[in-house]
Parts: sequence; structure tokens; C-alpha cells
Amino acid sequence: MKTPAASTRLDGGCACGAVRYRLAARPLIVHACHCRDCQRLTGSAFVLNAWIEGRFVETLRGAPASYGLAGGSGRPHDVFFCARCGTYVWSRYSGSRDSLFVRVGTLDEPDALAPDVHIYTRTKLEWLELPAGARAFRSFYRIAAVWPAESKERMRRQREAVRRRSARRAPGA
Ligand SMILES: [Zn+2]
Ligand SMILES: [Zn+2]
Repeated sequence: MKTPAASTRLDGGCACGAVRYRLAARPLIVHACHCRDCQRLTGSAFVLNAWIEGRFVETLRGAPASYGLAGGSGRPHDVFFCARCGTYVWSRYSGSRDSLFVRVGTLDEPDALAPDVHIYTRTKLEWLELPAGARAFRSFYRIAAVWPAESKERMRRQREAVRRRSARRAPGA
């Protein structure tokens, strides 16, 4: 993964400034997603999503509004946006409720995070050529085969914390 200087702040926000956020950690992985949903939602060729544990996304100002969509898989997908200007700031998918997929283009320095993988390239726009050597998958991929060890360990710890929390909520369940 590309590692910018430690001083690079991963702050971002919407177009009107009502929503401001900070990523308190590096993302687990950065996706360039070429699926039809992402093309439609962005009005562009693909989206850049930084996959990160939700607890590392600090809202500095304004709480984004959200609405629920059926994702490409038919499973729910919540899209979060500024209620004033409509900029999409992140998504949450049903398969990973404790993570957020933050739109890299809303960072103050979007160059700080380059895509680690391109996904759903089966619907990639034909005129778009990926850089030589880019890791690309026609649909999704196997996390075990792609993620760096550090990210896998972070996700393991995150899932463990979630399990402990839900065990406390429902004792004996
Ligand atoms: Zn806004
Ligand atoms: Zn997508």
C-alpha cells in the first residue's frame, strides 16, 4: 500500500463544508469499484472507496443523512450524504456493518490514498485503461488472498470486539 508521510492528515468533507470528518487510521484497503451502482451514484466511471472500521471515522462537523438502497447483490447498502449539498461521503454495506467505505474524492488531499485493487471490472467502461500491473478483479475477491496481514489482523480484532459487545447485550443467547 502507498504510505504517505505520517504528517498527512486524512481529513475531508462535503462540497458545502457542512460535513467534516477525519480518518483516525489508514484504511484497511482502498477499492476502485467499477460496478454499475458506483457509476450511477457518482455519475462517473468508478468510485474510490477507503474501507475502514467505522470507529476510525470521526465526524468533526455535521452528521451525514442516509438512505437505504438494494446493493448490486440485492443486499442493503446505506449511502451517507450531506443533507445540505448532497455530496456522498461514505457507504455502509450489510456484509460489513462495522465498516465504512469512505469516498476518497471527498478527502482534502485525495491523492493521499491510491487504489490497492480494482473491483467489478466486468462493468468497467471500455475507454478506461487501468495502469499496467494494477490488481484487478472481474467481481469481488477473496480477502484472505489480497489483504495485507496487518489489515486482516485489524479486521479480526474488530469482529472479536463486535462479538463481545453483542454477547453482553444478549446474555445466554
Ligand atoms: Zn455539504
Ligand atoms: Zn461498486
